[in-house]
Amino acid sequence: MLGSRRLFGTNGIRGVVNKELTSEMTIKIGAATGTFFQRGTLIVGFDARTSSPMLAKAVIAGLNATGCNVLFAGMAPTPALQYAVKNHKTDGAVIITASHNPPEYNGIKVVWNDGIELSREQEIEIENIFFDEKVCYAEWNKIGSTRDLPGTIDDYKEAIKRHVDVAGIVNKNYHIVVDTANSVGSLAAPHLLRELGCKVTTINANIDGTFPGRTPEPRPENLKDLALTVKAVDADLGVAYDGDADRSIFVDEQGETHWGDKTFALVEKYFLKDNSGEKIVTPVSSSTLVKDIADAYDGEIVWTKVGSVTVSQTMKKLNVKLGGEENGGIFYGPHQSVRDGTMATALILDIMAKTGEKLSRLLGELPKYFIEKGKVECQNELKEKALKKLTEQLSGLNPSTIDGVKIWFEDKSAILMRPSGTEPVYRLYAEAKTEEKAMQLVREYGSRLKRLIYSLKS
Ligand code: MG
Repeated sequence: MLGSRRLFGTNGIRGVVNKELTSEMTIKIGAATGTFFQRGTLIVGFDARTSSPMLAKAVIAGLNATGCNVLFAGMAPTPALQYAVKNHKTDGAVIITASHNPPEYNGIKVVWNDGIELSREQEIEIENIFFDEKVCYAEWNKIGSTRDLPGTIDDYKEAIKRHVDVAGIVNKNYHIVVDTANSVGSLAAPHLLRELGCKVTTINANIDGTFPGRTPEPRPENLKDLALTVKAVDADLGVAYDGDADRSIFVDEQGETHWGDKTFALVEKYFLKDNSGEKIVTPVSSSTLVKDIADAYDGEIVWTKVGSVTVSQTMKKLNVKLGGEENGGIFYGPHQSVRDGTMATALILDIMAKTGEKLSRLLGELPKYFIEKGKVECQNELKEKALKKLTEQLSGLNPSTIDGVKIWFEDKSAILMRPSGTEPVYRLYAEAKTEEKAMQLVREYGSRLKRLIYSLKS
């Protein structure tokens, strides 16, 4: 939890269950949320964590107590629940999930009637109701009802199929390996892929809230089993999802795992070929690759702060159809303006089927960059001071301060230094045309930042 008078972090409320996030608290969060929605109708669903059914019941009790009606969708991927909000035209949703966090965590995402998580201003309204004891309980005869909402995942799969050439994909009989991290990805993606004519090999597909297979964060270093399986069964590609299946990371047929901004750039390329002149939304942590593709195919990049809600809100505000993140979030607006791992998988298959090319070839054709990441320790209370000083020091290099400090150099290398929202560290993302240069940037700017932070302490 985030200290006094703050419940929501960058992606909802998160905490260790029965310590930082208890059932009692969740009832009250439900009641504060219900007060905020003023007796609307909300969808409630949850991920595969051991604590999720318990917390879903608690949040429903709070919502009903304040007169909100609940449509209970049960266990489902986050994007399927977000789609259900649009599909059933409800006032919003409350989703019990801690996304990619370890199994002892859980969390609460609150979604508005457009399927997007609440803006920070809306979250503050809920926090004020919660901390100022402004919950507005209903009279005994105005208590909300709860009824089951079946068919959420079937509706979601059908919606995704409307955005790709189903017959074209079916014709190819692709073999795909799917790693769902023992979580809710198992409920949608393998089934959809079979409906798309794919032979599906699953790993970590049994639902198990202890996440025995791998951590639910899909980073290349956690996906060795997936990469090996793709090679071993001679599949056309592999895909891994995070704990609530809104992010996807892909492995090509040669067993190479790719960062999310690369697969996003591929989707962007084929999107811009059909939609030239469109804007593309992406956080400053994404690779220059995304800009290269926009330049080559007549698109325009809108850089934002890091965070999926910011990407969604910016897409909505500017009426943009495509967004993406380096961590594997792809936001396909014609379907919904939120990241969606299963939609992303269908889009990649669609591109493979239309071009007849293998994934390694499609990704190999993109401009090549070497990415290097690092971190520097920094106490939370020094973060802002360090940022100010750093921006001053680097003013000659024309830094961007959309989020942290980013410098784009003329040789197409770049460095981003950004305070973490959750840990006492600065994160460094460097990229360059050679591996040595990317490593050198992390070393050079890492030690520069370390010195600067040290000077602030004395
Ligand atoms: Mg997630």
